[in-house]
Order: sequence, then C-alpha cells, then structure tokens
Amino acid sequence: MDLQDIEHTANEQGKLQTELWKTAQAPWTSTILPSADSLTEARASLPMSLSNDGMGFDLARRHILNDIVPGFNASSISPNYYGFVTGGITPAAQFADSIVSMYDQNVQVHLAEHSISTDVEFNTLGLIVDLLHLDRQTWHHGTFTTGATASNILGLACGRESVLRAAASKKGATVTSVGEHGLFEVFLAAGLSGVQVLSTLPHSSMAKAAGILGIGRANVKSICRQDNPLFIDLARLEAELARSDKASIVAISCGEVNTGNFATTSLQDMQEVRRLCDKYGSWVHVDGAFGIFGRILDDSGEFASVKQGCAGIELADSITGDGHKMLNVPYDCGFFLCRHPDEAGHVFQNANAAYLTGGGGVSSVPSPLNIGIENSRRFRALPAYASLVAYGRVGYRVMLQKQIRLARMISAWLFEHPGYNTLLEMGKKEELLDKTFVVVLLSAKNDLLNQNLAARINETSKIFVSGTSWQGRPACRIAISNWRVDEERDFRIVVDVLDSVARQSN
Ligand SMILES: *Cc1c(COP(=O)(O)O)cnc(C)c1O
Repeated sequence: MDLQDIEHTANEQGKLQTELWKTAQAPWTSTILPSADSLTEARASLPMSLSNDGMGFDLARRHILNDIVPGFNASSISPNYYGFVTGGITPAAQFADSIVSMYDQNVQVHLAEHSISTDVEFNTLGLIVDLLHLDRQTWHHGTFTTGATASNILGLACGRESVLRAAASKKGATVTSVGEHGLFEVFLAAGLSGVQVLSTLPHSSMAKAAGILGIGRANVKSICRQDNPLFIDLARLEAELARSDKASIVAISCGEVNTGNFATTSLQDMQEVRRLCDKYGSWVHVDGAFGIFGRILDDSGEFASVKQGCAGIELADSITGDGHKMLNVPYDCGFFLCRHPDEAGHVFQNANAAYLTGGGGVSSVPSPLNIGIENSRRFRALPAYASLVAYGRVGYRVMLQKQIRLARMISAWLFEHPGYNTLLEMGKKEELLDKTFVVVLLSAKNDLLNQNLAARINETSKIFVSGTSWQGRPACRIAISNWRVDEERDFRIVVDVLDSVARQSN
C-alpha cells in the first residue's frame, strides 16, 4: 500500500462527504475555524430544555447537519491544522470507526465464545508493538486507553505499585500493595514519606496523573540540565534517586511537546538511566505519545537523530503512546505497554464480580477490565487495526517522512527569515534541521507582533497554530501530524501566511 492508494481512497471518501454535506445543504468552507456567524447560529440553535416529544430523527438529523456541523473546526480533517498534535483520520480508520458504533461491542471481558473483539484488540496491540520495533516476547502486554493522559495514569500507577512493593518488602512488611491496602498503609510499612516523579519538561498530563494517583503534582520534579532543559542531568537524577525518604519513578519525555525533541539522544543515554534506576529500585516510564513513532523511520542518515532520540526505549518498564495523534485514528484512542505483565492487575483488578469473569481456561488474552481504568469500553482498537492492516509499516513510514520533511522545510525557511526566530536553539542550520522532528517552535523578532502572533496567524484561517510560551516569551508551535500532508503544497501555504503576517506588522 502506498500513499497514492491512501490518497485515492481518501478522495473517494472526501467526495462522499461532500455529497453528504451538499444533500444536507450544509454550508461548508475550506477554512479551518468556523466563522463567527456559524458559531453564533450553532449556539442559538441549542435547545433550552429537553422537549417531551422530540423532533423526530429526520429533523434531528437536519438540525445537526445544518446547525451544529457548521460550528465545528476542521482540525483532524485539514492537513493545515497544526494545533496541539492533532493527527487525522485515515480512510481505513474512519470506515472501521463507523463499524465500531454500528456493532457496539463492549470490550471489557474476554469471552472467547461470545465475540472476537477482545482477540482483535489484543492482536492490534501486537501490531503496534511490531510497528514500533519492540520485541513481542517482552512487550506484548498492555491495553488500549482513551489517550496518552490515561496511559500516563496507568504508567505511574504501575510504577507506584512496583516501587512501593519493593520498598515495603525490603522492610519485611506484609502490607505491600497500594491497590490492595492503599497508599497510606504502604507508605507507613515502607517507612517512606512519598513517591516522586522525575522528568524533564513533562507533558502537563504527567502532573495530572500524579495528582490523581495520590503522588501529588508538587512531587513531579525537574531533573533538567542547567544548560539545556530538554536533557536529563544524570548527576541530578542520581541525587534524587538516592533519597531515602521517597520512592521514585522516572518519566522520560520521548517527544517534548513544545520542541518535539527527545530527553535522551542515544541507546547509551537510556542504558545509563536504566542502570541508575536498577541501582536505586525505581521505575522507568516513557511518555512517547507522539515521539515514539520516530522508531518507524528507516535507518537513513536523514532521520538518524530522531531515531537516536527514541533508541533504547525497550529498556523502560512502561510506555505511553497515542493513537489519535500519529497513528491517525479518531478520538479517543491511546495505548499503554508494560514489560511486567502482572503489574496492571495489581492496581486495576476488578474485584469480586463473579459474573464478570472470563470464560475460564487458560487464555493469553487478558480481560481489559482487569488491567485498565474502565469496565465497559468502546471497541477503539478496531480503527487502529484497520489502519495498520491497510497501510502497513511502509504506509506509516511514508506518512511520517512527509511530516518531518515539511517541518524541516519550514524550519529552514524560518532560520533565514529576518522577522522570525526558530526556538530550537541550534547555531547551525544543518543541526537545526537534523534535530527537527514534527514540531516547529517559532517566535516573531518584533515584540509587538510576537504578543499576538498565534492570533494573527490563526485569523487567516488558512493554517492554525497553537500559542505557547518558551523561555519566558510567547511562542507558536506548528505541529505536523496529519496523514494528508503534502510537503510542497503545505510549505507554500505556511510560508505565504507567515510572510504576510510579518509584512503587515512592518
Ligand atoms: C498529547 C500528549 C499527551 C496527552 O495526550 P492525550 O491524548 O491528549 O490524553 C501526553 N503526553 C504527550 C507527550 C503528548 O504529546
């Protein structure tokens, strides 16, 4: 399967959608944000209260197509939406997603004789393990989640269980499981005052996960290097790991959200982190929401530094990945992989519900309700399955190559531009391009323009970027993650917008 085939199918699909919108007479424009009028009208169309009789399916359908849909943005649909890390929806994934709703399988208990859905979900996890060049023997354990935030919660929960069990066991305690006895009793048994999460510029969801899990947001601590906050200061890491009052989880930012860059730069870096964590009994969790997809690139020099950034991830204990970003499947979809097959069960075991147990007998497919947050669950693995079997390794590799090449073309252009800074601090252009993955971080040199840069760019509605802040100044992120990217076409669109915004401010 190559990209032309994907594009062909998508164009067919696009035509279908256009037809659908036409027949519904919905106003559809190619702009990325809905117009202010569409938003006002959509808001005004919302009912004040529930009616007794309902308007009927026919009118409800029209209401949604005519009033609500025009108030949507084109984020996943447009290759020129560069906000957050948004991804898109491949045609295969979109097809499968409608099957998911149509057949509404509840993927919670593995009942081999009732439905194939749990087998498909488990198989899909294996395909992802293959895609990421991980070893199935070690890594084919985990589950599908609602996204990277949920996967980070699972990662910290498994890490918390493991490091506290080790600490309590060392004291000869019998109370060792947080899942069973709760944090407080295990802290007492282990003689610890808390758990800390050590990381470099982690995604905000890491603090959220720490908050949820009784670790505490304030216990997410920086181990950044003084000279470059993207990288781990190994001496600082060791000093924190050596503390006798806290157990530690190390969270590797495999893809920092502002720059797209990696906390480690080689297999040796990961080996050193692993060595220290083994020495002090701590858990290594990798937040690879989008960054881990760097592993699907080929071995050419063009992508060497990206591949080095996600080398050695197999040495971690657990891994977070997002489906609705680089995998280009619909919201909501993420995955969690864990090298220790029993750990999630210690935390997420759905206790004492005889009617929810699996079919009995030995099975290699775990029941999802015992290893993740939810009991009832959507069959969100099917779109990922469809996309992986449809496009294969090469389809995904080609998609990512185009995304990286576009990011580098934009970076190179910005590097030369008198009005803009590229904020990934590299003295030489070659080095900047070599380090650029799928995110471009930029600011305007002119302070006045820079205050409103994201708004000025987004006003054009030709492209959409996220505003952020970097080293105390406002900045913009161009995050490229849609399968529809076309380097040449999209490069022209992006530089035309950036050029006109810079010119108008002169
Ligand atoms: C997007 C992202 C998350 C959060 O993912 P959701 O899918 O929005 O829950 C976590 N970590 C990183 C690095 C991300 O890019």
